[in-house]
Amino acid sequence: MQSRCPVHRGDEKTVKAIVVGSGAGGATAARELAIKGFEVTLLEAGQTFNPLTHHVSWLSPLRGTILLKDETSIKHVFPHYQVTRAGDDLVIFRGVTEGGCTSISCGNMVRAENGLKEIALDLTREFTEIERTLPISTVPREIWRPLTQQMFDRAKELGFSPKPTPKVKTAAKCVGCGYCELGCVTGAKWDSRLLYADLLGKGVSLRTDSQVKQVIMENGTAKGVVVSHGSSTEHVKADVVVLAAGGIGTAQILRASGLEAKDNLWVDIVLTVGGVAKGAKMLNEPPMAWFAKKEHYILSPYFDLLSYWFHKPWKNVPADDRVGMMIKLADTENGTVHADGTVTKTLTEVDNERLEQGRLEAQEIMQAAGAIGPFVDGMVHGGHLGGTVPLQKGDTETMHPSLLPQGLWVADLSLMPRSQGLPTMLTAAALALRVARRIAQEKMPKGGDP
Ligand SMILES: Cc1cc2nc3c(=O)[nH]c(=O)nc-3n(C[C@H](O)[C@H](O)[C@H](O)COP(=O)(O)OP(=O)(O)OC[C@H]3O[C@@H](n4cnc5c(N)ncnc54)[C@H](O)[C@@H]3O)c2cc1C
Repeated sequence: MQSRCPVHRGDEKTVKAIVVGSGAGGATAARELAIKGFEVTLLEAGQTFNPLTHHVSWLSPLRGTILLKDETSIKHVFPHYQVTRAGDDLVIFRGVTEGGCTSISCGNMVRAENGLKEIALDLTREFTEIERTLPISTVPREIWRPLTQQMFDRAKELGFSPKPTPKVKTAAKCVGCGYCELGCVTGAKWDSRLLYADLLGKGVSLRTDSQVKQVIMENGTAKGVVVSHGSSTEHVKADVVVLAAGGIGTAQILRASGLEAKDNLWVDIVLTVGGVAKGAKMLNEPPMAWFAKKEHYILSPYFDLLSYWFHKPWKNVPADDRVGMMIKLADTENGTVHADGTVTKTLTEVDNERLEQGRLEAQEIMQAAGAIGPFVDGMVHGGHLGGTVPLQKGDTETMHPSLLPQGLWVADLSLMPRSQGLPTMLTAAALALRVARRIAQEKMPKGGDP
């Protein structure tokens, strides 16, 4: 969505908008509102994003030591990751940094639409428009490691109908390392910072290290936010407040403001089954080069760095010989985000049954391709966070869920009522685009719809 059209600056009085969060949803909303002539303040809790160099092999000897003792140790290595334990059996990861989770994504870009029909929301127009402006292509098969090719072929023979994964990146800049989730050192991978880079100082002003604590309410209408920056606190006023702090961040702000959020958090649970294949070197290829879609989950080749670093059962196999097959599951929407940002969520019986089915299939594909056991589970975690401000059927015309007060909008994955078991950046962006256009129609009717 680069330089799609000039910024509209009419004669109307400038309307001030606050957008909270610079991830897939927030960056999309900020861009669209600025184009429509709003003066946008983009408030981001995290710091400027810096990728971790891909020379991280020095970390391997530290596995199991006090420095990498468990998943919370990631903050010593890569502070942009925020880790929340939701229960004994589930860890949640998210990017709290400029660009949000897009800065640490694998760059996979697909339409995730589970549950949209139920609420009569058709995002085809937004999907198409966003896709048209982005460099989306699959990873050429020559760049896949031989074992990944083998697994693709065997999966096909076994009837899983695998497909190369669409990725959003400038192919010529991609060196094919396996470290997309630590940030892209060559700048090949797209992330949402690119959506507002050309608008900084021209309609968008970005403030990093600015954590929004609460929404300021006056007579039942949102009038601004309370922001903390280091040890200081500030009240920032605006005509429109748009929360796009992600499935956890948005719900946390709502609850801390005494407003409602739903106990409907979903996280798209990830479980990577680890096997062994000597010299497979799966870290020397982009992650998730292909995927096979099942009804409730996808299967995809994946070296789970977090399990490699922090998960004891993965400890005895060196990186070069570790292979993995990810199950990404559309989980039960049953999580709660509390006002202090903690999360409570458990896997249900249905989740566990589906994971078990995926586990057997993952192992079958790996074995058919020549990988051997022991096959061990990786860390169960989630990082696609949505559902806490779910749109309902009656909301889709206004894109303003009825639980939100006047003047307050949500433009992120929180709006998506159902889990996906699929990559979700594109969906978060498409929802935000629709929301921003609704806001523009309401607040600046002359700005119009393109
Ligand atoms: C490791 C990982 C890999 C992923 N890979 C892919 C992939 O390959 N493809 C894909 O489609 N999806 C991927 N996802 C998921 C995808 O990135 C997210 O679903 C998507 O970015 C969600 O968009 P969002 O706007 O809802 O939230 P986010 O992108 O998470 O943005 C939320 C923003 O709000 C900020 N924030 C939070 N709280 C506050 C506050 N109080 N005040 C101010 N700012 C705040 C955060 O720092 C962040 O910048 C991945 C996720 C993870 C964790």
